[in-house]
Amino acid sequence: MRTDYHIHTEFSCDSEAKMETYIKQALERDIRLLCFTDHVDLNPEDYGYNYYNPVKYFEAFRKVKEKYREQLTLCSGIEFGEPHLYADALEHLSTYPYDFIIGSIHWIGNMFPCQKVREQYSAKEFYTLYWKEVLNTVKQGGFDALGHMDFPKRYYGEIYYVEAEIKEIFERLLDKDRIIEINTSSLRKGHNETMPGKELLQLYADCGGRYVTIGSDAHVEEDIGADYEAAKMLAEGLGLRQVVYRERKRVEVEW
Ligand SMILES: [Zn+2]
Ligand SMILES: [Zn+2]
Repeated sequence: MRTDYHIHTEFSCDSEAKMETYIKQALERDIRLLCFTDHVDLNPEDYGYNYYNPVKYFEAFRKVKEKYREQLTLCSGIEFGEPHLYADALEHLSTYPYDFIIGSIHWIGNMFPCQKVREQYSAKEFYTLYWKEVLNTVKQGGFDALGHMDFPKRYYGEIYYVEAEIKEIFERLLDKDRIIEINTSSLRKGHNETMPGKELLQLYADCGGRYVTIGSDAHVEEDIGADYEAAKMLAEGLGLRQVVYRERKRVEVEW
C-alpha cells in the first residue's frame, strides 16, 4: 500500500502547496494514506523561524480530513527541527492531536550545509559534527521517526560516517522504540540513493531496526509519493516493514 509520511504544505515557509491539491494528486496516484508534516523550525537563523502555526494548520487539516474521509486516510504531523534543543516547545506542541512527529537535524549551531559552509568544512568535518547532533537528539527523543538521517548528503552529495557511531545512534533510537524514515527527496536532487541509503539501512537492520516510514519530503504536489517504489524495494530487500503512525502509535501496513 502506497503511503507518504513526509509532506510539506503552505504551513511550511518553503511550500505554497494546499492540502487539497495534494489530496487530489494522491487519489490519482493511488495513495490512500498520507501525513502532512510541516516544518517547525526554532533556530533563529532558519528562514522559517517561528513560521508554523498549529491552530491554522489544524483548522485546514480538519476541513480536508472531513471532506475526504470516505476516500483516503489523512494524518497530521510535523517535522520538528533539532528536538534536543527545543524540548519544551516540542512537548508543548505534542499536546496537539498529531498522529506523527518527525525529528530532523537541519542545523548545527548556526550552520546549515549551504555552499558557504561547504567551502569551509569538508564532508568529513561536517558529518563529524552532524552525527554528534543526531546522537544528542535520539538520546532526547520526543519524536516518532528520525527524518532523513544522512541529511548532509543532499548537499554534499556524499556520506561519511564511523560505523560504531552510527550503531550507537541506532541503539539509542531503538531503545526508545523510535524508528527512521526512508526519505526519497535526494533521488529528485540527482543523487543515486535515498536518505538513508542501503549501507545505513543495513546497519539499522543489523542493530535490530525492523520498521520504516516512507516519505517523499514533497514541497509541491507533483512530488507526492515520488520514488515510493525505490524505497519499497530497498526496504523489502533488507526485510524492513512499512509502518505509519496514527495518534502517535505505530501501525504496520503491507508494502
Ligand atoms: Zn527536513
Ligand atoms: Zn521535510
